[in-house]
Amino acid sequence: MIRKLIGKVLRRPGKKILHAKHYGIRRDHIHSAALKVCDRLQDAGFEAYVVGGAVRDLLLGKSPKDFDVATSATPEQVRHVFHRSRIIGKRFRIVHVPFYDKHGEEVIEVTTFRGSSDAPTDDTGRIIRDNVYGTLEEDALRRDFTINALYYDPTSEEILDFHHGIEDIEAKRLTMIGDPDLRYREDPVRMLRAIRLAAKLGLGIAPATQKPIASLAKLLGNIPSARLFDEMMKLLLSGRAWDCLMSLRAEGLHRELFPVLDIVLARPQAKNFLKLALENTDQRLAEDKPVSAGFLFAALLWHEVEADWLARQATGQNPIPALVDAMNGIENTVEKRLAIPNRYGAAMKEIWLLQPRFEQRSGNRPFRLVEQQRFRAAYDFLVLRAECGLVDKELAQWWHEFQYGDEQSRSALIARATPKQAATDPAKRKRRRKPSAQKSAASGE
Ligand code: ATP
Ligand code: MG
Repeated sequence: MIRKLIGKVLRRPGKKILHAKHYGIRRDHIHSAALKVCDRLQDAGFEAYVVGGAVRDLLLGKSPKDFDVATSATPEQVRHVFHRSRIIGKRFRIVHVPFYDKHGEEVIEVTTFRGSSDAPTDDTGRIIRDNVYGTLEEDALRRDFTINALYYDPTSEEILDFHHGIEDIEAKRLTMIGDPDLRYREDPVRMLRAIRLAAKLGLGIAPATQKPIASLAKLLGNIPSARLFDEMMKLLLSGRAWDCLMSLRAEGLHRELFPVLDIVLARPQAKNFLKLALENTDQRLAEDKPVSAGFLFAALLWHEVEADWLARQATGQNPIPALVDAMNGIENTVEKRLAIPNRYGAAMKEIWLLQPRFEQRSGNRPFRLVEQQRFRAAYDFLVLRAECGLVDKELAQWWHEFQYGDEQSRSALIARATPKQAATDPAKRKRRRKPSAQKSAASGE
C-alpha cells in the first residue's frame, strides 16, 4: 500500500496497456499510409507502432499533422521492406517512406527504436549522434515529453503508455521524460518544442519542465541554423504564432533565434504590426487557407528594414535605392542566423521592394504594379502597415479601389492621386536637389 503510494507520488515509469477505443482512437483515424507501414513491418516480423504527435493529437481531439512510425527494424531493414523509401539524416537516421494517392505524396517517417546506452555528446551535453538502437522501452525513455511517448498498435488497437502520458493528456500538462535539465542539454531544441507544443495544444508546462529553460536558453546558440529555421517555421505555422513568440521571449529563447524581437516589442507600432501579421496567419491557418512563409518573414523582419530605410531616406537617399541598401544590411545580420532559404527569402524581398512602388501612382505605373506576380502579397502587406499607422490609410484604400476598379474609375483614381504625387515625385525631387548639391561640392563643404 505504502509502496503504491510512493510510486504514485514519484510517478515511476511502468508499462500500461490501454484499449485505444476507450480513448476514442480507432484504426480508421490513422492515415492509410501509416497503417500500411505498420502492417507490412509487422508482417515482416518487426514491431511497429504509430507514435508521437499523431497519437497525442488524436487523444486531444485534434486532427494530426503527420503520422510517425516507430519500429524495431533498422533503417536498412525498413528499406528492404519499402523499396521506394530513403534513409535520411546523419545525426539521427530515419527512413522516409513515400506513398502516392489522389491528394499527392504522403511521407511516413519511420524511426528505429533508440537505445538507452550513452550517445556521444559535446562538452555542453548535446547529443551529436543518436543512432544506437534499442528496445521499445528504451525508445520510450528517449522521447521528449510523456505525451509524445504513446505507442498505438493498429493491429491490437492498444496504446502503450510507459511514462504516464495519458494522465498528462487528461491533465493537459506537458512533462519532460527524465531529468529536464539533462534532456534540454542533450538537445536544446526541446526547449522550443516545449513552447510550441504548449501554445499549440493549450497545455500547461509542468513546473519542473519549465524551470531550467530560462537558464539554458543560450544553448540554442550551438544549434545549426538550418535546424533552428525548421523550428522557427513550425512555431510560426503552429496556429498560435503570436503566443509562441511571447512565450519564447518570456523564457529568453528568442535571443539566439530572433534577437530583434526586443526592439520590435519596445515600439508600440512595430509590435502591433507584428501581432496583427501573426494573428492574420493564425486565422488563415484556422480557416485552412494557404499561408506564405515569404510573407511571414517579411513581417517578422520588417521593423529592422524599415528603420534603416527611413534613416537612409532622411539623409536624402531615394526610396528605392535606400530600401535595397537597408535590405542588404540585414542580410548579414538577422537573416544569416535564421538561414532563411532562398525560396522564401526571394518572396520576402519582393514584398518589401514593392512597398515604395505603392507610392508611385502616376501614369502607367499603377497598371504595371497590379500586374506583378507578387502584387497581392505586397498589397496585403501594405494594408497591414496602414492598419498600424506605419503608412497612410488613404494609400491602402486607394490601392483597394484601384485593383478592383474598371478602366474609368482607375483613370479617375490616377487623376486624383497625381497632383499630390507631382509634389513628391522622386525624379523631380532629385532634379531640384541637384544644383544645391553641386553648389556645396563646389564650395568644398
Ligand atoms: P508535430 O509533428 O505535430 O509537430 P510531433 O511531436 O509529432 O509534433 P515530430 O517532430 O514529428 O513532432 O516528432 C515525432 C516524435 O519524435 C515526437 O512526438 C517525439 O516523441 C519524438 N521527438 C521529436 N523530436 C524530439 C527530440 N528533439 N527529442 C526527443 N524526442 C523527439
Ligand atoms: Mg509528427
